[in-house]
Amino acid sequence: MPPPPELADAWRTARPEPDLLHLDSAAAGRSSRAVLSAVTAHLEREARTGGYVAAAQAAPELDRVRADLAGLLGHAPQDTVLTESAVSALSVLLEAWRLPPGSTVLVSPGEYGPNLARFARWGLVVEAMATADAVGHVDLDALRARLAARPPALVHLCHLGSHRGVVQPAAEVVVLARAAGVPVVVDSAQALGHVDTALGADAVYATSRKWLAGPRGVGVLAVRPGLLDVPTAGLESAEAFVAGRIGLGVALAEHLALDPSRVHAGLAARGRATREALDGTAGWRTVEPVDEPSATTTLAPPVGWTDAGVETAQQQLRVEHGVLVTSAGVWRAPLEATRTVLRVSPHLDATAEDLDRLARALTAVS
Ligand SMILES: *Cc1c(COP(=O)(O)O)cnc(C)c1O
Repeated sequence: MPPPPELADAWRTARPEPDLLHLDSAAAGRSSRAVLSAVTAHLEREARTGGYVAAAQAAPELDRVRADLAGLLGHAPQDTVLTESAVSALSVLLEAWRLPPGSTVLVSPGEYGPNLARFARWGLVVEAMATADAVGHVDLDALRARLAARPPALVHLCHLGSHRGVVQPAAEVVVLARAAGVPVVVDSAQALGHVDTALGADAVYATSRKWLAGPRGVGVLAVRPGLLDVPTAGLESAEAFVAGRIGLGVALAEHLALDPSRVHAGLAARGRATREALDGTAGWRTVEPVDEPSATTTLAPPVGWTDAGVETAQQQLRVEHGVLVTSAGVWRAPLEATRTVLRVSPHLDATAEDLDRLARALTAVS
């Protein structure tokens, strides 16, 4: 079922007309006019009254941003800080945590490549969870057994990956890890604004610009009290893109007004429609099961294509056909991905005609 027309209309009419067919929310969502004006209004205030005065005046708005994020992430406002991005949130967390080098991190099968680099930076030893199927859902029985036999120092789960629209059973993973007494951290960069993210993890982090369609350069980290030896509030960067944080507040208000559970259902419906429209087009195959509850679809190329060929197809789609998607390389999930795929990530406003247009363009570039 497509999202109710009023939901799609509300989302579409709230933002500037796109110059191309934008099916790339997993990279960066399209911000609304209200978000853009909140950002520019704060920049203007900075120029008129001084950046620090403007920030002090905006303190109540920033408190509301933290509180709204805390609500969506299932943490308390005072345990939630603003960062510059999801990856910077993970860096801040690991720096404050100082796990002994050599500690084991049990990660999701499709763990995000740049996260793996952060674990390596702190000398942590990565092991991947076993998968239950060919698309990489975590095998919960194997996880339970692994946690009992050899508890790692930390479980780290990418709720939704960057390379594939597979939604991990994050709530179940959190319950299993906590039952085993192992701290669990969730990367919700692709999950926030997309699927339910209030999971009760020990720490969770995410980004503004993807499914919430807030400004770039803003992220969030929430940490359960007692996990770290330092107070969470101290982890927030003082020098920051305050205007972007204010803009995120508006994106959050819009998301909450639409009702997150309706947005999640609408996005899952877009994912299903995308997979139904595209699977088999000119020999491209969708990787995700048709009913995977996410809006992200990846397409594996026809037999014989190289990774470079997929990158070229992505460029041709944009330059020659005005369609924006991502070519998602192996670096995004080096433990799992074996080839570059096209990633299609529509938001609520994508129509059946849009998906037809992508299918025609895909045929043309194949
Ligand atoms: C985009 C992404 C990140 C990084 O988010 P930034 O805000 O760019 O740092 C982390 N994890 C996953 C799964 C992502 O898709």
